[in-house]
Amino acid sequence: MITEIVTIYEGPDRCKRCLGWKRIANDEEGLPWKYWAELPSPENLAVVAGIIVPVECPHCMGSGIEPKEQVDDVREQLAAYAHTARSGWMEYLFKQGTTNPDGSFTIRPGSVERWARQMRTTYWSLPEEERKSDLAEADQILAIVRKQ
Ligand SMILES: [Zn+2]
Repeated sequence: MITEIVTIYEGPDRCKRCLGWKRIANDEEGLPWKYWAELPSPENLAVVAGIIVPVECPHCMGSGIEPKEQVDDVREQLAAYAHTARSGWMEYLFKQGTTNPDGSFTIRPGSVERWARQMRTTYWSLPEEERKSDLAEADQILAIVRKQ
């Protein structure tokens, strides 16, 4: 039997599983503890007898607050990855050419040819050697997704 006093969380973002009660019943359905706590006598016999007891809500880890969607966090991490990949590419690009006195930038013909060809080629048609950097990026994306 739970003897500690648990404050019910009543914020708008209260846990959908325990309804902010921070605990659920150990019954088959894992009903919010609210259901059992508010049962009138004698229907609460299982509670009085200690057969049905409250356990920490596994959804909110007993906080009573609905966990923030993990997908939002993954989305931010993927966006950060996309930004890093793009800025890394641009840093590489600016090292491959020449900045002119007027601030414009000249790309060497060999680089123009190579990048234009790659731009027009699907991944599946790239030579194996040129797929390697794309595969390395895929691995980094997978690492972010798998961490969740
Ligand atoms: Zn909960």
